[in-house]
Amino acid sequence: MSAGERAPSHACETVGCGAEARLQCPTCIKLGIQGSFFCSQSCFKSSWETHKQLHKKTRSSESSLSQYNPWPYFMFTGSLRPYPQSSKREVPSSIGRPDYADDPHGFPHSEQKVRSSSNIKCLSDEEIESMKVACKLAREVLDEGVKVAAIGVTTDEIDRVVHEAAVERECYPSPLNYHGFPKSCCTSINEVICHGIPDMRPLQNGDICNIDVTVYHRGYHGDLNETLCIGEVSNTSRNLVKTTWECLQKAIEIVKPGVKYRDVGAVIQKHAQSQGYSVVRSYCGHGIHQLFHTAPSVPHYAKNKAVGIMKPGHTFTIEPMISEGTWKDEQWPDNWTAVTADGKLSAQFEETLLVTETGVEILTQRTEKNGQPYFMD
Ligand SMILES: [Zn+2]
Ligand SMILES: [Zn+2]
Repeated sequence: MSAGERAPSHACETVGCGAEARLQCPTCIKLGIQGSFFCSQSCFKSSWETHKQLHKKTRSSESSLSQYNPWPYFMFTGSLRPYPQSSKREVPSSIGRPDYADDPHGFPHSEQKVRSSSNIKCLSDEEIESMKVACKLAREVLDEGVKVAAIGVTTDEIDRVVHEAAVERECYPSPLNYHGFPKSCCTSINEVICHGIPDMRPLQNGDICNIDVTVYHRGYHGDLNETLCIGEVSNTSRNLVKTTWECLQKAIEIVKPGVKYRDVGAVIQKHAQSQGYSVVRSYCGHGIHQLFHTAPSVPHYAKNKAVGIMKPGHTFTIEPMISEGTWKDEQWPDNWTAVTADGKLSAQFEETLLVTETGVEILTQRTEKNGQPYFMD
């Protein structure tokens, strides 16, 4: 075995050495073990007998985690498996909460009241200002989650960071207890289309991982997501992620007063199909403001029958889910995790948008790097 060259410098792990070390154990990199630096091949070799115990320990704790199977008779469509979840996180009572936060079943009574209505709310100038603040904070919270996502980091850890970043900004993390959802954000890996539940699975080299964040701040929700490439991702995975992001950009470009909500899907499907991909049909973009999910419904596929015409003051999301193979989805027995029916990859991007007098404003846009997505960094 030999250790690979890595910058920057650390202290050598060999007992009594402590010299500047730039070599990292390749097995540790693979297993997501942090640290493990050596100054030279000879130090690495002299430490091997004790060092390799660390690999053994990590492998056995990982295999006990991956032996966890809450649904022994369920046929998974792909290779991803659920891992145990941490206990529920709390939000200080000083932070304003949506109605479902304290409902025993997480039922959003205020959304239900207007469920049958296709009436789209036009926000007042004051309401728009409140939306802008909530959406800016949502972006900041997502950015914090993105910063920690890396090989070996669990999605539960991303959830913890997202939860704490929300609380620090006087936000309630909107997914928490929404229809009973157990966590503060959604993390959707590989064949998961959306609504993946953060758990103890460490991210692996080559995963694609979507982080979907919504926060509720002073009465308003802001919602966005991005798909990240973890470590070295195959060209085919990266092309799916890139194409999905382009689908969202092309859809946003047509948003302005007078455009029909049903026209959004055609733009997305055309671009997805040009790369040989399919568009998920079971999950749509949605109106968002004082309510998390409300009218309009914004399908991402062509020839849909969505109701409504864009008007200044409308706020809604576009969040295309694009799949490598079939557009068909299935759900895990947790009643949340949506996966592709063929187990192939699916990617997603989402922004919250405001229809202005002349066009559109992306309320959740990344302020750094001209709004470029993270997978391009
Ligand atoms: Zn959304
Ligand atoms: Zn979202």
